[in-house]
Amino acid sequence: MKNIIKILFFCFLILSGASSSFADKENIIRVLVLDDAQEADIFLRGSYEIRSLVGNKSSGTVLGKGRKGIHKRFELEGGFLNITSAKTDALIIIPRKGLFYLNNRPLKGSVVIKRNKFSKLSVINYINIEDYIKGVLFHEVSHRWPIESLKAQAIATRTYALYHAQMNKDKDYDVSSDIYSQVYGGKNSERYRTNKAVRLTTGLVLFYEGKIFPTYFHATCAGKTEDANQLWDINLPCLKSVDCLFCVGSPHFKWEKNIIFSQILDKLNAAGYNLESLEDIQIIERNNSNRVKILLLKSNKEELSISGKHFRQIMDPKEIRSLNFSLEINEGSVDFFGFGWGHGVGMCQWGAYFMSKQGYKYQSILQFYYSGAEIGKIKN
Ligand SMILES: [Zn+2]
Repeated sequence: MKNIIKILFFCFLILSGASSSFADKENIIRVLVLDDAQEADIFLRGSYEIRSLVGNKSSGTVLGKGRKGIHKRFELEGGFLNITSAKTDALIIIPRKGLFYLNNRPLKGSVVIKRNKFSKLSVINYINIEDYIKGVLFHEVSHRWPIESLKAQAIATRTYALYHAQMNKDKDYDVSSDIYSQVYGGKNSERYRTNKAVRLTTGLVLFYEGKIFPTYFHATCAGKTEDANQLWDINLPCLKSVDCLFCVGSPHFKWEKNIIFSQILDKLNAAGYNLESLEDIQIIERNNSNRVKILLLKSNKEELSISGKHFRQIMDPKEIRSLNFSLEINEGSVDFFGFGWGHGVGMCQWGAYFMSKQGYKYQSILQFYYSGAEIGKIKN
């Protein structure tokens, strides 16, 4: 009887060893780096292994391996990836060490290539969180900024990414590499001082009551940060509005923009509104942080209200840089006079910059913008 149990246990070990999960144990972030592609050119030097992908996070059987690198253009043939040994629609290439190149772009970690629902290729970089942050920070703030502000940013970015990894664990990827998530440039985006800030804060994240939370940040709040609850369904004490007097010297403190009515009308109609004309725009309501909550649009026939958030999205957040604006109607156009840049929630990056210039450490900066949150370490 004992022997049977031993044999069964041995079989279990073999079976459970047949697929190994990497995403849970090493703080791996899955970054969508290419989507709806016809092909993916992969090049790497040295030893590597190609395995099938089981589910979203585990590797299965070995489909190929070598010691002298590989240079291959992956594409779909009859719905499957063009790898000779087996029919598969999802595989992972694991370099033993060093970088791999996706369409000549150097990246760290491993790479997953899979058929997406449109029968095109999605390419997802499975990368350790610390390496991911190194590829992101450069796009968030200047690498020349004081080290304490870079450290605060590294912790906010790390927490934000891990929060999304938690939220998206049943999906194909955790974050995308575009502006809607966090811009990720891979190895090309690494700089000495941003890497140093990542190293000095390795594994540090923000918790609120023991849980990580979406540590939003933005360029400049211009006086008062925004309550997350004004924009999303998030009601957390650490994401409430705070008065920020630090960012007054930010280059983004003020903005102005003139937009002609016909352009606004085109954008509204492209977004699904059906207005014949646009005659007037009025601000109907502001919230406690003075940001525009509701606008009234008037055509020759009707009036309709639109939330400030939606209006900004439709108009392009780079044009209407913030919701803290007033407006003046001219002949056929509108002048917007605004303050700040970004949604205003969480850490004000230029405020953090000036705080660090004044000698504040990263702990104080984070405590100021994410009131009541605590810094802790993730398990590595
Ligand atoms: Zn500010």
